[in-house]
Amino acid sequence: MNRLGQKIARLVETSGPISVADYMAICLFDPADGYYTTRDPFGAGGDFVTAPEISQMFGELVGAWLVAAWHALGRPVPVTLAEIGPGRGTMMKDVIRTVGRLAPDLGHGASFALVEASPRLAALQKETLRDIGARLDWFESLDAVPAGPLLVACNELFDALPFRQFVRQDGRWLERAVGLDDAGGFRFVAGTATLEPGALPPDADQAPEGSIFEIAPARDALMDLIAGRLVGQGGAGIFFDYGHLRPGFGDTFQAVSRHGFARVLESPGAADLTSHVDFDALASVARAHGLAAHSATQGEFLLAMGLLQRAGQLGAPLDEAGRAKISADVDRLAGPGAMGELFKVLAILPAGVPAAGFPGAS
Ligand code: SAH
Repeated sequence: MNRLGQKIARLVETSGPISVADYMAICLFDPADGYYTTRDPFGAGGDFVTAPEISQMFGELVGAWLVAAWHALGRPVPVTLAEIGPGRGTMMKDVIRTVGRLAPDLGHGASFALVEASPRLAALQKETLRDIGARLDWFESLDAVPAGPLLVACNELFDALPFRQFVRQDGRWLERAVGLDDAGGFRFVAGTATLEPGALPPDADQAPEGSIFEIAPARDALMDLIAGRLVGQGGAGIFFDYGHLRPGFGDTFQAVSRHGFARVLESPGAADLTSHVDFDALASVARAHGLAAHSATQGEFLLAMGLLQRAGQLGAPLDEAGRAKISADVDRLAGPGAMGELFKVLAILPAGVPAAGFPGAS
């Protein structure tokens, strides 16, 4: 077992099985051996490729959405344009460039905030954005971002926040925990904590033995913080991730390493750990603050924002191979077999403020 595995095993030996949420938090953010604290996981040479790393078109369309939201909000200045969990800083680079071109007033009037929990990734972001020529600040949490109107965007942030699993056993829902097996490795065990009936879907009683139900208080808490801030000080937010628009049962805990699936309980800290995001839960948190929440698949949203037109513009001066590459990028970002349907997007704005890119939204 690796060093982080040994550390977790000692914790389990002394205090008993730990929740899936605690296991995930340690694996991703242990200061010495955590996945995000020690690695640069993105891109072809890493473990996985995210939408902004596939093509500049993704960040450009996010930038176009933020510009449209800024206009719809009455063009507030000064304003902070923030990204939480910026990875390598690629999306922010494309957003800043796009904002500067589409809305120079916003480009000059905004300060750009990067909220990043991993010091190593923050350093990488500084490198990516070194010559961008915009006002940039880094923060470890959204709490530290100065007061005022906020435009916020996140890609694949919420899937990386810890979540909890409950397993149906003998008619009860028991928290799934990580314990030790006889060989000294990790295995799932049923813990003692149960879920209050109010937190379960109405059909939870009919779920077969062994069913899994997931909740993510850490995600809800972050959405609560964002929504509270937007209501109090103005602004809008947009969030992309893989997940479902309606809650349901199922085990979505996954580990990814070198572009393939790995075992979640093997090699702690060496693989990315995530689960699917419940967009309905996040939308409910935002609506509880009185905000409007709109959701769609990533494919629907990108097409509505003009993905094909942008691809055409970028492809026009290129040769056949260049155009084929752009067309393949469009398929990866918006195609139903790729990210187009599995990935979803949620936008939150003050009630009555129109949202670009969501057909049918008021
Ligand atoms: N948005 C990037 C990276 C996604 S990976 C992209 O699409 O390529 C998740 C990112 O969120 C990493 O940068 C990780 O360090 C960061 N992160 C995870 N939890 C966080 C938290 N609580 N606050 C801020 N950043 C966080």
